[in-house]
Amino acid sequence: MKYDYLIVGAGLFGSVFAHEMTKKGKKCLVIDKRDHLGGNVYCDEVEGINVHKYGAHIFHTNDKKIWDYVNSFVEFNRYTNSPIANFKGELYNLPFNMNTFYQLWGVKTPEEAKKKIQEQVDELGIKKPANLEEQALSMVGKDIYEKLIKGYTEKQWGRKASDLPAFIIKRLPVRFTFDNNYFNDKYQGIPIGGYNKLIEGLLKGIETKTGVDFFANRGELESLSDRIVFTGKIDEYFNYQFGKLEYRSLDFQHELLNISNYQGNAVVNYTDTETPFTRILEHKHFEFGNQKKTVITKEYPKEWKEGSEPYYPVNDKKNSEVYLQYKKLEDQKRDVIFGGRLAEYKYYDMHQVIGSALQVVKRYS
Ligand code: FAD
Ligand code: UDP
Repeated sequence: MKYDYLIVGAGLFGSVFAHEMTKKGKKCLVIDKRDHLGGNVYCDEVEGINVHKYGAHIFHTNDKKIWDYVNSFVEFNRYTNSPIANFKGELYNLPFNMNTFYQLWGVKTPEEAKKKIQEQVDELGIKKPANLEEQALSMVGKDIYEKLIKGYTEKQWGRKASDLPAFIIKRLPVRFTFDNNYFNDKYQGIPIGGYNKLIEGLLKGIETKTGVDFFANRGELESLSDRIVFTGKIDEYFNYQFGKLEYRSLDFQHELLNISNYQGNAVVNYTDTETPFTRILEHKHFEFGNQKKTVITKEYPKEWKEGSEPYYPVNDKKNSEVYLQYKKLEDQKRDVIFGGRLAEYKYYDMHQVIGSALQVVKRYS
């Protein structure tokens, strides 16, 4: 065999796996069907600005080992994500914290804010939240749900909030302090000079081929190695034999503007139902840039279909059942490792994908 591992997908999972196995003396080939490496963390450079081509990527983790790992390839800056929500022209701080409560209700103390939320929660009488809507209502009450959650969620997922799993909203902190940090993790930042530096560091000295789709030449590619690491769609790998899993996709509309500062923040969410996009990113603010021009990106959510990119697994009941059937097939295939957001059909963040790849490397070493 020419290689020990053929790695399908040059995203974070594939790149970390290739890096670690190469360090152990294994011969790896990494292929990707896109025309660049890095998967969804890839950045395009425009006018000296690193443009997050596939949406805002903010690295955060509580795990010092993972933080030190990524910082060993590229230094991270002190960026802290604190998005603004725009609801029909009214601006609110996110995540839900004392600033948000003051802006909504004029309450000035944690006690007043808790009372206000509790009154609304009591009125609803939800005992055990069974879906995203109930979970959100019981975390923050009706006002916040209606202004900052319902519209955004239903645009993002193309489904009613009452049909979505509760865990999606549990990602967001609710705080009774004046703290606009979107994450609770100890470590957070953006690679200085962009994510491509992280990927270049991981894949240094490793054979890579872009513009190669595994399914276009499956037989030949499979004959190149003893083992395959597959990070594409798991349902596609098994020829959709149990039916198609659903994914959400996005259209990214990037614009170069001849002004230096468009919105004063890296991320502004549009939480009403009518605005067709969910958020506008202004990329220079991830790295505190002071270039003369600026690049913004509007994210328009849509359902995944053949020919678009699958970005988010839809982990509702129906899809979870289909996924389990594929997972059973996967468990019987000893020569293929399935990893990452698409192959594991999991709403993974970057640090989780890296952690998972490092675990898998341990298991196979
Ligand atoms: P991917 O990056 O998707 O890589 C998989 C690769 O496989 C792709 O490059 C694809 O082209 C390739 N591939 C698929 N099929 C084939 C095939 N048949 N042949 C060849 N190649 C193939 N995480 C955070 O921690 N913080 C954030 O702020 C954050 N924001 C996000 C915003 C958006 C809009 C999205 C979509 C994700 C965000 N994430 C964020 C999650 C993060 O992108 C993922 O956790 C991580 O990039 C997943 O890495 P991966 O290797 O599993 O997948
Ligand atoms: N969410 C919301 N309003 C917001 C931001 C997020 O209702 O202004 C909800 C929405 O359901 C979203 C989920 O919280 O899908 C998780 O948000 P996050 O910002 O983590 O989403 P991602 O960055 O992964 O798209």
